[in-house]
Amino acid sequence: MESFASSLSKLTGESTLLYQEIARKVEKTKGIKTINFGIGQPDLPTPQRIRDEAKVALEKGYTAYTPALGLDELRSKIAEFLSQKYGDKIIKDEIAVTPGAKTALFLAFLAYVNPGDEVILFDPSFYSYAEVVKLLGGKPVYVPLHFDQGKGFYYVTDELSSKISPKTKMIVYNNPHNPTGMTFDADLSKTVAEISQERKIVLISDEIYDYFVFDKNFWSVLQTPSWRDNVIYINGFSKTFSMTGWRLGYIVARKEVIGKMGILASNIYTCPTSFAQYGALASFDSFAQVKEMIDLFRRRRDVMYNELSGVKGIKVYKSSGAFYMFPDFSEVLGAGGMDSKSLAVKLIEEAGVVTIPGEVFPERVGKNFLRLSFALGEEKIKEGVSRMKLFVEKVL
Ligand code: PLP
Repeated sequence: MESFASSLSKLTGESTLLYQEIARKVEKTKGIKTINFGIGQPDLPTPQRIRDEAKVALEKGYTAYTPALGLDELRSKIAEFLSQKYGDKIIKDEIAVTPGAKTALFLAFLAYVNPGDEVILFDPSFYSYAEVVKLLGGKPVYVPLHFDQGKGFYYVTDELSSKISPKTKMIVYNNPHNPTGMTFDADLSKTVAEISQERKIVLISDEIYDYFVFDKNFWSVLQTPSWRDNVIYINGFSKTFSMTGWRLGYIVARKEVIGKMGILASNIYTCPTSFAQYGALASFDSFAQVKEMIDLFRRRRDVMYNELSGVKGIKVYKSSGAFYMFPDFSEVLGAGGMDSKSLAVKLIEEAGVVTIPGEVFPERVGKNFLRLSFALGEEKIKEGVSRMKLFVEKVL
């Protein structure tokens, strides 16, 4: 009988998908159509130019391995684009193209985390950070985000500083933030950059939602003049260009770090998919579509916020980033004697609405919250929230 590696038992799998699975079963057995607020991707097609360029690449037979760190042209384009955006001279050798931002994160953790190392995460945060840290024998250490209905979510500097120990290897910062839908105030982003640099801690800055910013100024960690000292910047094509299935992300870090990523990449996956990379070359000419998408998402956000504001028993902050809202359901949970997981299951079974329970992100703070994505049409948003409202009224 084979025995699996003990590290594997530390992984729980993608729990956000579990709720989609329950929804599929409920649709089948009860014959109802659910409204899906569980979605973590834009619902629009990839811009035409990008699809066309990938097709051309296929036709031309550009289907062989590329360099492990990605096509030189694509790395140069990313470097040029970020240089213009952030006023720094970023070069090709400071870029690694990866199969999705998740792989970029995986390489970054793999490159630094030794068993016993502590990695500071914000609570709540994207579930995969903690999973990978644990897989590598590291220990996630959580800094809570606090919630204020008017201001949104924020961390307290002293709480962050107090979690730093001699074992701290990394801090992971995600802005705009999944699952809260927060674009953090610039001073919070600057502080995390300063603290990590002063204390000589590697800072992973996951900025994959950087185009999904509403009513706020976004400050990138790449605006720190000395980012090369300790920053591993993560971004990708998945969300901005509606390319989740293409699997293309990238890392920005100083040349020496990118060299290590190249060694890992060539041993793990050889290279990102060739024709997907050729398609991505056209993404830099597709910002008109991105702008249209962001305008659409802003309107959807407003609709969702207005609808949720009319539901008694929940507290909601008007999301300023990504495409999520993270309302506080503590009153409903208290009245119904439920936790966020059982509430999410009941909402699917009894109201036909899919949400993601805050507990999967992955610690304590989220336990009173549900994550709702507004990556779906306005009519569906209205219908879904009205179903939730009926359910909540029965519970209260
Ligand atoms: N980082 C965050 C915060 C995310 O929410 C996601 C996807 O949901 C990713 C990274 C992964 O992106 P990709 O699809 O490019 O792997």
